[in-house]
Amino acid sequence: MRSQPGDQALQVVRALKRYVKNLIEQDGSPVIFNTLAASSPRFKSEYFHKSLKRYVPGQPAYDEGCKLPGHSGLEALAKNIQVCSQCGLAGTRKKVVFGEGDPEASLVFVGEAPGADEDREGKPFVGAAGKLLTRIIESIGLKREQVYICNILKCRPPGNRNPKPEEIAACQPYLIQQLKMLHPRLICALGSFAAQTLLDSNEPIGRLRGKIYTYQDIPLVPTFHPAALLYHPQNKRLVWEDMKRIAGILGLKPVSPKT
Ligand code: SF4
Repeated sequence: MRSQPGDQALQVVRALKRYVKNLIEQDGSPVIFNTLAASSPRFKSEYFHKSLKRYVPGQPAYDEGCKLPGHSGLEALAKNIQVCSQCGLAGTRKKVVFGEGDPEASLVFVGEAPGADEDREGKPFVGAAGKLLTRIIESIGLKREQVYICNILKCRPPGNRNPKPEEIAACQPYLIQQLKMLHPRLICALGSFAAQTLLDSNEPIGRLRGKIYTYQDIPLVPTFHPAALLYHPQNKRLVWEDMKRIAGILGLKPVSPKT
């Protein structure tokens, strides 16, 4: 029986789907992820998160400049992101906030997104929440310069609104790359969005915190975002518990918090 034009079109579509799926499973190209994640919730939920689980430290970077070793790779990535327009936040940001701190740090803090102060200065956690984060870091006997601080989103959502799923999906390859280059001994996820993104979870931070997880074999401790602590200071006690957990893993001596 001769096949109809409609059948042939269906076969082509199926073959194309298989081809794209194979491509993703072979090299996990973030460019393809971005395109598919933006166009189809199915691809976002099934394949984007799958790529996170398959990510292995030491695999080649997707950007040529970022294949440079050590700090040079991180600097190249930071430079590339300055002109990024992968999501709508490119149109409203003042400055891209890549992250800052010691590239050799044992401990990396990952927050949600830049606020107004960060957007203006191009640095993470520089406002009131940033001052509180500095005190939290000092509570485990470290100086702010001894850790690395970054966010899930590198550009500010207008009015400090919550990040949209498509913005997180667009920006996530940068974070994956950044964490791969930093390869710390421990990650502290600050707030629901950071914890949910890194742990591929929908649970709120109140439920996620209090336990130790792993992200690509790196221990991960979730805790409340410092900005949330400004409104709910009663949770500082729980953050102190989480910091003691971090200090225990890293062999640090916690000092009495000044928060
Ligand atoms: S938030 Fe991330 S993906 Fe969106 S424009 Fe900024 S750097 Fe690019």
